[in-house]
Amino acid sequence: MKKITIAIDGFSSCGKSTMAKDLAKKIGYVYVDSGAMYRAVTLYAMEHDCFNGNQLDVEKLRNMMNDISISFQFNPETGKPDTYLNNKKVEDRIRTMEVSERVSIVAALDFVRTEMVAQQQAFGKEKGVVMDGRDIGTTVFPDAELKIFLTASPEIRAQRRYEELKAKGQDASFNEILENVKERDYLDMHREVSPLVQAKDAVLLDNSNMTIEQQNEWLMKQFELRIEDRN
Ligand code: C5P
Repeated sequence: MKKITIAIDGFSSCGKSTMAKDLAKKIGYVYVDSGAMYRAVTLYAMEHDCFNGNQLDVEKLRNMMNDISISFQFNPETGKPDTYLNNKKVEDRIRTMEVSERVSIVAALDFVRTEMVAQQQAFGKEKGVVMDGRDIGTTVFPDAELKIFLTASPEIRAQRRYEELKAKGQDASFNEILENVKERDYLDMHREVSPLVQAKDAVLLDNSNMTIEQQNEWLMKQFELRIEDRN
């Protein structure tokens, strides 16, 4: 059967990566978390003194872009790829609140996006990829055969994120997370380059009141319908 490209976009902490990773595993596709790439660039910038508080020295980061290499390695224990920054595993360090608070500033920069989008397109060259992010169906793979746009209320997304961080033993305040979710929504939707917007041909899903099993089932159905259409 011919493989297709699957783009899953939407707001932060909607469960995009859970959904994308589970589908990829079931159908034998490669899963790519594009947000992890923007997070890794942000971590690099933080560790190389490009930030003073939340103030970013854009030119300093621009000059460092060639020193940043991001890759993924499948982790059989978690069933998903771990993110590597210059060959060092950074999977946990890119998920902290400190990175979440700064990532949308880095992700708004055109030179960062140009570089990340080129790498993402290379990952998907052979098709058979499920990629999640903000601009996958609009910019990275505008010709993707299946596009999903995921949303849920900010409060529900903040609660999910809160539980995720707590389970990992990280310090978290629900109100701080809620503020961060809302702020990232705003920055992602209002930036000049590739703002977060639903692609015209994307299928919309509000998963506020759905379990993980229900959303996985729904996504599998969308995949099967798309495959049937093509055969
Ligand atoms: O998906 P995740 O929340 O980990 O993404 C982190 C941030 O990276 C987002 O808030 C957004 O600013 C940025 N991002 C993006 N384009 C993508 C994926 C993520 O701008 N394709």
